[in-house]
Amino acid sequence: MNDTWVYVALAAAVLVVGGVAVALRSRGAAPVATPVAAPAPVETVPVAVQPVAPEPVAVAAPPSFRDRLSRARGVFATATTGVLRRTTIDQSTWDDLEEAMLRADLGVKVTTALLDGLRARVKDREITEPAALIAALRHDMTSRLASAQRGLNFDASLGTPNIWLMVGVNGAGKTTSVAKIAAQQIALGRTVLMAAGDTFRAAAGEQLETWATRTGAAIVRGAEGADPSSVVFDGVQSAAARGIQLVLADTAGRLQTNTNLMDELRKVRRVAEKAAGVVTEVLLVIDATTGQNGLVQARQFADATQVTGVVLTKLDGSAKGGIVFAIETELGIPVKLVGLGETVADLAPFDPQEFVAALFDE
Ligand code: GDP
Repeated sequence: MNDTWVYVALAAAVLVVGGVAVALRSRGAAPVATPVAAPAPVETVPVAVQPVAPEPVAVAAPPSFRDRLSRARGVFATATTGVLRRTTIDQSTWDDLEEAMLRADLGVKVTTALLDGLRARVKDREITEPAALIAALRHDMTSRLASAQRGLNFDASLGTPNIWLMVGVNGAGKTTSVAKIAAQQIALGRTVLMAAGDTFRAAAGEQLETWATRTGAAIVRGAEGADPSSVVFDGVQSAAARGIQLVLADTAGRLQTNTNLMDELRKVRRVAEKAAGVVTEVLLVIDATTGQNGLVQARQFADATQVTGVVLTKLDGSAKGGIVFAIETELGIPVKLVGLGETVADLAPFDPQEFVAALFDE
């Protein structure tokens, strides 16, 4: 076991014994003012351990899906109330269910597939009661989401930083999600550096700097308008030199119709991997309130950057959480995290069972 792992083990022990979240603040994160013109491949930098004083960071438990999904639940509650009011399963039953599923943005494909399966079972007299039909729909919706691998990829054996790239259109919640993920990873005992790669949006760097201070992460920023790839490259190099385990790289997110953005993101990924780290996650941040439009975005980003998971933000206050089904069914990308509010604690691992229960339970 090298020093890093001794340190990580110690940090973990502190967490277990203390039962508190621990921040490992890396000091002296010099802001990067000059972009690297042409980052060349570099040798892996041996991980140097910087013993630092842990500071407590307050990360509350994430809120429950049930508490935050009231709008989406409203859509399903109206339908199930209508279905259960009748004693038989008739055309109105199917109309109520279809309307709710489409309003919740499950998409035509998923809605049709789910209802066709149920229609066949009703025809075979396997399901005869409205209550059994609702129970079967709930079960089928849950099992549709059951097989995805939702764990965040972090390889502790790399000896160089893991890099998690955040991509998505402006306003989707990338910067906020970087902050939330940083707080959670720090609470797990990992050291984190934020690379403020969204150099096109002036406020993004400042926003991240504030979050870095609050969460105890290190940060590397570029000058406004600097090449985002260079900022990410410098961030990874800085993390490697300082023995920081995880780089969370924010990226620019202008309109998805801008093809240059996709070229740029391809470059960010290439350059990040030339630095002394490995990209182990590319997280596409999608705003749940955009519904099916999010799918179009997702396709473009997935093609450009080999997306490994989705962070679905603003699920609180959205009736359109059903986009989860379309993302997973049509794109085969797992929804790994969901944003349930604006505070740093409002990010939760996506739990299909809890999610579907929150849609149906009174
Ligand atoms: P970016 O342009 O993709 O970096 O987006 P930002 O991180 O700046 O977020 C845009 C807005 O969405 C901000 O006002 C955030 O507070 C808000 N936001 C982000 N995630 C969530 C969420 O899960 N729930 C809610 N309600 N708001 C969110």
